[in-house]
Amino acid sequence: MWSYQHQHFQVHQIPALSDNYIYLIEAKASDVLAVIDPADASVVNQACASLGKSLTHILNTHHHWDHTDGNKALKQRWNCIVIGAAHDAARIPCIDIQVSEKIFPKIEGLDIQVLNVSGHTLGHIAYVINDALFCGDTLFGAGCGRLFEGSPAQMWQSLQKLAALPDDTKVYCAHEYTLPNLRFARDVDTDNSILHQRIHDDTQTRMKNQPTIPSSIGLEKATNPFLRPLDTVFIDTYGKTQHIDANALDVFTHLRQSKDRW
Ligand code: ZN
Ligand code: FE
Repeated sequence: MWSYQHQHFQVHQIPALSDNYIYLIEAKASDVLAVIDPADASVVNQACASLGKSLTHILNTHHHWDHTDGNKALKQRWNCIVIGAAHDAARIPCIDIQVSEKIFPKIEGLDIQVLNVSGHTLGHIAYVINDALFCGDTLFGAGCGRLFEGSPAQMWQSLQKLAALPDDTKVYCAHEYTLPNLRFARDVDTDNSILHQRIHDDTQTRMKNQPTIPSSIGLEKATNPFLRPLDTVFIDTYGKTQHIDANALDVFTHLRQSKDRW
């Protein structure tokens, strides 16, 4: 487990399954201990025990099993409050409170905003708590989620919402996919020196068995190929080499399809 200090809370990062991350958010001004996307109840229970605290809330970003499988057992053990997207109320196990971009969850000691970020699934949401972003399978280190339910246009709109957050926002995504994502990024963004530095840094990090996550919105904007269509120079270069229309959505769509085949 790795822990990160924020002004009003701590984030504890727990590896789970083969490459998932589960996050515990421990509020400083209340007894709140919330878990984001409990893939596995047992590792969450162990973490609660080592912190000496009771689990008070579950926050789900989307309905996939590797994000919700712990809901039922944790609800039974802690009688915690389960929060998820109103859109996915029928697909989130044990949901108590339905939220959306218009209805934020109210949790003592945490100021939580919700962003609708459809694309990977319809009804995928992200939680923004001050300078921490919990984005599930929407934005990854140097990557983005596959489009299982949404369209490229929906995903591109969702990614733009995340990119609009301040550069120093920490990106707590749900999988450690960064190194393979960076290999794809190097193929499509060859001359990007910040990307090359990141490949060096994150390779070292993984060799030490450390997480590359959290990254930051600033680093993702500079190196994540799925956010690079925000840059007009990148769009022009990529459009020319791939012989496609030089606009952000077409370039994003082409990148996502290339990655699926890569
Ligand atoms: Zn997923
Ligand atoms: Fe996932």
